[in-house]
Amino acid sequence: MKRYQMLIGGVWQDSASGEWIDSIEPFSGDVIAQVPRGNEADAAQAVDAAYKAYRSPAWSELTATQRGALLRKLGDLIERDAVRLADIERSCNGKNITEVSGQVRNVAQWFYYYAGLADKIHGSVVPINKPGVFNYVRYEPLGVVVAITPWNSPLALTAWKMAPALACGNTIVVKPSEFTSPPLLELAALASEAGFPPGVINVVSGYGNEIGAALINHPRVAKIAFTGGDIGGQKVAEAAAKNFKKITLELGGKSANIVFADADFEQAINGAIAGVFGAAGQTCMAGSRLLVERSIHDKFVARLIEVAGAARIGNPADSETQVGPIATRSQYEKILGYIEIAKQDGATCVLGGNALSGAQYGQGQFVAPTIFTNVRNDMRIAREEVFGPILSVIPFDSVEEALEIANDTDFGLAAAVWTTDLHKAIYCSDRIEAGTVWVNNYRATSFTTPFGGYKRSGVGREGGLEGAQEYMQAKSVWITTQPNKQNAFVLG
Ligand code: NAD
Repeated sequence: MKRYQMLIGGVWQDSASGEWIDSIEPFSGDVIAQVPRGNEADAAQAVDAAYKAYRSPAWSELTATQRGALLRKLGDLIERDAVRLADIERSCNGKNITEVSGQVRNVAQWFYYYAGLADKIHGSVVPINKPGVFNYVRYEPLGVVVAITPWNSPLALTAWKMAPALACGNTIVVKPSEFTSPPLLELAALASEAGFPPGVINVVSGYGNEIGAALINHPRVAKIAFTGGDIGGQKVAEAAAKNFKKITLELGGKSANIVFADADFEQAINGAIAGVFGAAGQTCMAGSRLLVERSIHDKFVARLIEVAGAARIGNPADSETQVGPIATRSQYEKILGYIEIAKQDGATCVLGGNALSGAQYGQGQFVAPTIFTNVRNDMRIAREEVFGPILSVIPFDSVEEALEIANDTDFGLAAAVWTTDLHKAIYCSDRIEAGTVWVNNYRATSFTTPFGGYKRSGVGREGGLEGAQEYMQAKSVWITTQPNKQNAFVLG
């Protein structure tokens, strides 16, 4: 079993408390590593180290091209170690190795994308409506960024923050989930190997209400980039309000997956399955509300039961596995609780609805792929994020009714439309209140395009040029080009 240390100011160290948190493999139940239980003192030290690095010539005087070169090097190291990193992440959160492997290779791409962007962040020359003035706008970093990430995709969701933050010249303190710190502490070692100056990248570990709370309340932190649930998101927003920090919040969802009768039937089935049973539904963008046009509802549900019922469930280390375990005990109990709530509220369970145990499931906490029909959009199962392999099916009769149901939610992270009618696809995409809309596909993401939520699903965007904007601030510089005869007592 490996005992990790935290990386603060270029130095590997234990926590000030001297205490440890166990990392437990969801499938075997084994303790596979221990990480330091960081506290307020560690948070202060990490922010100080990041602040010192931010002001040091070793970082602040690098050209943007040099920053890009460091990011590219880190991308290369991630690619070199992708198999090892994927296995460590899989062993912490129980996600299928096939999915994690693809995600980790993609992590390198995020670093390459923002490496390329670093020296292409141009300011502008602005035509001012006054004579004798030259004005330009330059974009500057914010300072110390704190990145807080959840357990479901720790490396990817950290890269979404770290790569643009560093490309724009900030320094960073990363606080991963207490359940999945090892992959990020491994990433910290690669950052040192890549040659980032000490303190530019710091990775600490510990509980959200301990070191996490200390980090978000630290007055020297300029920006908090948070991915997680809405309770944590609210804490971040409250802390930021007190000290006027900038924030990006990537929160939960209750995404609508809308299938029209004219859709390619098998493609839509595949998309519905991918939407909610991929990653055992432990994904923010889960298509957990499936809206199906009534004329194909029964046939569609029958085929869904057939396909989801045949999913290969088991050890996520096996590349043939399609549905793995639930990552944590509390999440497992929460999912089973929602199954009971749905039944009590009158939904009909047509597949699954139970926990799974037996030799093929190891010591893991497994929930069978579960489908509910007769769901109304006002039921809790249709309104609250479950974060598990639970699908609610709701019929509709018209385009307008589908849109009304899709938008009748507190969330707005993503949605999909399945149709062969291009006009219908665009009409719906324009009217859906969500940050991402997929047409005839589900769960696609890329570093080249923004991702983020409407409504309670978040604030700000990650990815693409918009993602970089979140880590910069504009400065307007005024230069007089002719002798200044301004009246000192009148606003110029
Ligand atoms: P969580 O909110 O419990 O924890 C997320 C992170 O926040 C962890 O590192 C945790 O330690 C930290 N944290 C918790 N309370 C804190 C506090 N008071 N101060 C500072 N930090 C605190 O979420 P989770 O259970 O790890 O992840 C599941 C949630 O993440 C779901 O709601 C899911 O939808 C969301 N999520 C969103 C996206 C997205 O891109 N929108 C992606 C993945 C997951």
